[in-house]
Amino acid sequence: MEIKNSKLKIENSVSRPPIVVVMGHVDHGKTTLLDFIRKTTLASKEAGGITQSIGAYEIIHSAKKITFIDTPGHEAFSKMRQRGAKLADLGILVVSADESVKPQTKEAIEILKTSATPYVVAINKIDKPNADIEKTKNDLTQAGVLLEGYGGNISWQAISAKTGEGINELLDLILLSAEMEQLTYEPEAKASGVIIESKMDSSRGLSVSVVVKNGVLRKGDEIISEKVKGKVKILENFLGERVDELYPSSPALILGFENMPEIGEEFWCDGHISEVSVDSAANLKNIPEISADLRALNFVLKADVSGSLEALAEIVKIMPDIKIISKEIGDITDGDVRNALNNKAAILGFKVRISKAAENLAKAQEIKIITSNVIYELVKSIEEEIENTKEPKINGELEILGVFGKKSGKQQIIGGRVNVGNFKNNLSVKIKRQEQIIGEGRIINLQKQKQDLNLVSEGEECGMLMDSGVIINVGDKLVC
Ligand code: GDP
Repeated sequence: MEIKNSKLKIENSVSRPPIVVVMGHVDHGKTTLLDFIRKTTLASKEAGGITQSIGAYEIIHSAKKITFIDTPGHEAFSKMRQRGAKLADLGILVVSADESVKPQTKEAIEILKTSATPYVVAINKIDKPNADIEKTKNDLTQAGVLLEGYGGNISWQAISAKTGEGINELLDLILLSAEMEQLTYEPEAKASGVIIESKMDSSRGLSVSVVVKNGVLRKGDEIISEKVKGKVKILENFLGERVDELYPSSPALILGFENMPEIGEEFWCDGHISEVSVDSAANLKNIPEISADLRALNFVLKADVSGSLEALAEIVKIMPDIKIISKEIGDITDGDVRNALNNKAAILGFKVRISKAAENLAKAQEIKIITSNVIYELVKSIEEEIENTKEPKINGELEILGVFGKKSGKQQIIGGRVNVGNFKNNLSVKIKRQEQIIGEGRIINLQKQKQDLNLVSEGEECGMLMDSGVIINVGDKLVC
């Protein structure tokens, strides 16, 4: 099947191809499915021409176009949802027949449901000996996916993304669902769409991938998004070919944005400029996130492309006690280290390199840089960092008001008042002087008005015999 992307006009002037997003649990075969579809539906010459994914591609099946969003998965999809921009018309929920319904399957179902995105189910990996299609269908029903033939109307297809079995039928189902949705666009409207990826590279500068949703996007169009503006200086289709115009629902690569837009932002071509206030200075730099928390760990985030950056920010944001100082695309530079230094922050880099100057400055200023190409390794490092910097949780605090007699051996008689919590006989405590822990000890005898007791509570005063290597002074605090 041959795609003449730029030359192929949409026959019906108002109907447009479906934009499809693939969702499901990790390792259930989303990437393999997308790769299989791409490879088998593109002519080999064209497939060979694709040097880099722009985040979406088009195929032709039964003489009809379908656009697939091939990256970056849930994060971007939810981001777009939060912004109210609807990118995908249809979803494919991929569920592996050997593992059946897993947590991210349920998450995907939830997202598809709340965003009212119609979807079909692909039960994958049916070539595997332990594939159990019946169990998968039952589990899906349990998870609220009412399949056709199981009391519902959600279409499903058993497939193998590895051998290709069932994939033609799956594409048929997608076209059928698209027909029912009656997807249209207005040919006379100013072009608009959604940003799906943005990238800065040294040779081409800022390139922004979009999917056109309405109108016709043309070279030379003035373009604005919620936060940035520009002009379509170069327009490319998903094969990397320069074109003069692109129709809905085509993926497009635009060169000519003045600043980096965010994933999930909508864009419009001229005519809308006066209606939307554009903050031309707005870019991804120094966007304050999460209210200031003095005990928060500060991070400067860096990633290779905006998809990765958004994914990283989404994950970091939900971690406790974390504050994002800034998030930016590109390798880690000495400027980032200075930024981190000014904000008492560490630098977190996802799929980026560290410049020599940055490395030297970070070493000299003791700025921590954590980088990895694997997001879960970064998450682990952040968790370790949080653990390391955590002050011990204080359940009790007792202020020393008096020290009686001389310390004999390791024992000392002291008195004080409980500020927080309770103190018990035999309790191990830490000794704090001017906000620093200077040693440890144990209460061997607790007394109040010369009576032995087991427990003193908040607000009460007591005397005690302490066992500790530290000479305790008035004003010190015992904490536990
Ligand atoms: P994703 O995380 O959902 O994108 O999953 P991947 O596409 O990366 O697939 C995870 C693993 O499952 C890879 O090792 C694939 O080769 C394998 N896989 C995917 N689809 C199939 C299939 O239909 N059959 C078999 N046997 N393996 C598959």
